Amino acid sequence: MHARGNPDRHRQRQQKLKTQVATRVAAATEQKGILIVFTGNGKGKSTAAFGTATRAVGHGKRVGVAQFIKGQWDNGEYNTLYPLGVEFHIMGTGFTWETQNREADIEAASAVWQESKRMLADPVLDELTYMLAYHYLDTQEVIAAIENRPPRQNVIVTGRGCHSRLLELADTVSELRPVKHAFDSGIQAQVGIDW
Ligand code: ATP
Ligand code: MG
Repeated sequence: MHARGNPDRHRQRQQKLKTQVATRVAAATEQKGILIVFTGNGKGKSTAAFGTATRAVGHGKRVGVAQFIKGQWDNGEYNTLYPLGVEFHIMGTGFTWETQNREADIEAASAVWQESKRMLADPVLDELTYMLAYHYLDTQEVIAAIENRPPRQNVIVTGRGCHSRLLELADTVSELRPVKHAFDSGIQAQVGIDW
């Protein structure tokens, strides 16, 4: 056998793979809006959600964004997507560990949630998971609204510790796992990478 592999065997394997993929593509015939969850402790949940949103906007689709714990500082995804017609609702009370006023947070979360329900777009619900974990929003209401959304509407939810019912309801779930993170070796967060 050749050191770099047998070209005939390689061709056969690739042909088999191609047939398998074609069979699966042919079998996926249903068309409906899906629920995607990006969860886990690794970096990339919001990045993945905004990457998908950018892709959709690139195809002329209507996208709306609700950011549940983003601060009021400069926001790269807002700077890019808002001028392209993406509707944004930002809670603006900062990350959970920075906020001590529970009542004000609940009020801010509810206001963003009302806008999310109203949006006639495919919504990105960035950091929504924390609103359920902290009981800032009513879990049953949020789940029912997502479950009963218009059939062609896609929804993306991000955040750690996603509620099990949302995970069940989701069509696609990706868990980001922190293999390593620059911050843990003392490297500062940076514009364009972290926000
Ligand atoms: P990103 O917005 O970069 O995609 P994320 O949405 O997966 O991150 P969040 O928990 O929302 O994760 O992150 C908020 C901030 O914390 C971001 O600036 C991100 O770079 C940083 N971060 C994310 N994961 C980690 C981690 N495992 N350790 C340290 N910092 C992290
Ligand atoms: Mg995030």
